[in-house]
Amino acid sequence: MADNTAIPLDIVLLGPLGAGKGTQAKFISEEFGLPHVATGDLLRAHRVRGTDLGRQAQAFMDSGALVPDDVVITMVRDRVSQPDAADGVLLDGFPRTVAQAEALDGQFQQMGRSIRHVLYLDVPSDKLVQRLSGRWTCRRCQATYHESNNPPRTAGVCDACGGELYQREDDKPDVVTARLKTYLENTVPVVEYYRRQGKLREINGNQEIAAVTAISRAVIRGR
Ligand code: AMP
Repeated sequence: MADNTAIPLDIVLLGPLGAGKGTQAKFISEEFGLPHVATGDLLRAHRVRGTDLGRQAQAFMDSGALVPDDVVITMVRDRVSQPDAADGVLLDGFPRTVAQAEALDGQFQQMGRSIRHVLYLDVPSDKLVQRLSGRWTCRRCQATYHESNNPPRTAGVCDACGGELYQREDDKPDVVTARLKTYLENTVPVVEYYRRQGKLREINGNQEIAAVTAISRAVIRGR
């Protein structure tokens, strides 16, 4: 864990749905002691709690569209200002639009910090659909598993916390197609945004989980 004088370790994990961001995020956040800030998880938690924000987000999420920028930007701004984020954060699923990326840069600039690494997990589209259709998510800790590629030790039960596993509504085929379209239209430009800044590190996400983890670790350690 960084000490008070260290520069905050702010990391963005980019990639299409099903690229393995959640799986890698768990490892990175544990190994580097960073809060894992996943906007999808934050939004789902708002829905479970039945907050106004959760109600606003619901229709967008169920159709595979993006929740409006102002809603998500405010949510992330609040989260990265919390004391536990002072030494850095790992952002997963944010930014998803260039407007969000610009807002994040502005927010970090005001705080005297800037994004250190952008890890981009690249996986071909046909593999994504296959991965998402077998995905099971933990209701309690949001860990994800795959029926054949990464099964839990006991079917339906999370290895990490014992929580119940379920299949997300938006992992159904028609919503997955809509989400992929949204990704191509809105988030591919974010990849280019960070490429232009010279911060993008492309990682082949179409390999063993452990191999992706090893590369991510080396990038963050600057090797
Ligand atoms: P995820 O768990 O990252 O796949 O996100 C699930 C859904 O939450 C997405 O399909 C969007 O509707 C919404 N969402 C998550 N993150 C964002 C974001 N950064 N901007 C807009 N909508 C988001």
